[in-house]
Amino acid sequence: MKIKKFSEKPLDIHSRIGAKPIVCYPNNTIEDKNLSILHSAREHLVKKKEVIIPPRDAKTFEVKFGEFFRIESVDGPQVGDLNLFNLNNLEEKFYSGKTRALYGTHLSVGDKMFSSFPYLRSLATITWDTLDWYDYDKDGGSVHDVIGTRCDPYTSKLLSDNDYHYCCHSNLTRALVKEKNVQLDHAEKIVHDVLNVFMLTGFTNDTKQYFMKASPVRPGDYLEFFAETDLLGALSACPGGDCGSEHSSDVAKCYPLKVSIWSVDPKYLNDIKPSLISNYDRNHGID
Ligand SMILES: [Zn+2]
Repeated sequence: MKIKKFSEKPLDIHSRIGAKPIVCYPNNTIEDKNLSILHSAREHLVKKKEVIIPPRDAKTFEVKFGEFFRIESVDGPQVGDLNLFNLNNLEEKFYSGKTRALYGTHLSVGDKMFSSFPYLRSLATITWDTLDWYDYDKDGGSVHDVIGTRCDPYTSKLLSDNDYHYCCHSNLTRALVKEKNVQLDHAEKIVHDVLNVFMLTGFTNDTKQYFMKASPVRPGDYLEFFAETDLLGALSACPGGDCGSEHSSDVAKCYPLKVSIWSVDPKYLNDIKPSLISNYDRNHGID
């Protein structure tokens, strides 16, 4: 927040301000020709499995390369916090910050969910978004952000001295411990910043603080992904419900979320291959 200013303005201020913005990471070199193939393939999806995520809880799910998965609103407006891992190496996980640097504050169709260093490859491509009509509103808000983190008991403790155990961070940790036998200490270290599915967020105009509004999601809405490698997903139904009031408490009305896994005959995938980890040689200038 740039509110408290103590320094004098320099005499040459006019030569220091007003430069034109340049996109840091132009993303037009990232392959996206597969999207039209995926849009044709999704006409032939066959449902394989469904997982219901209870309110204020999380569950894990596995998706193999070449399959699709959907996160769907059921019963009422509800926000979901999504973690994605390489199924065979949980150290390779979704990198919200770099994905944001590549695609901006909120994700939608065609955007790829990149993994952490030293892997940096697409874990999944978003193939459909029934909320893409929302675009950005007059406050700069939109859905499916990668600017938030995940609600957690530490920040809750810091700000309000509460011990609350059903924040998304704890829900995701608990799911990894209970369903994947990950040790508690390790589990909470590999839980990472999420894709905030269906959450309506932005930065305030004046202080640029993270804000949220009631999500426009309604039952039947979904966000769909294509798995570019074998994935372990973990999804938390946020205790904030539609995140229209508060989170990190039992106050908000919460609903379940549904994850469905869909397979498709490989002939429709036109020889799309699994994504490859970065081929940077990792020398870092040390000879
Ligand atoms: Zn949450």
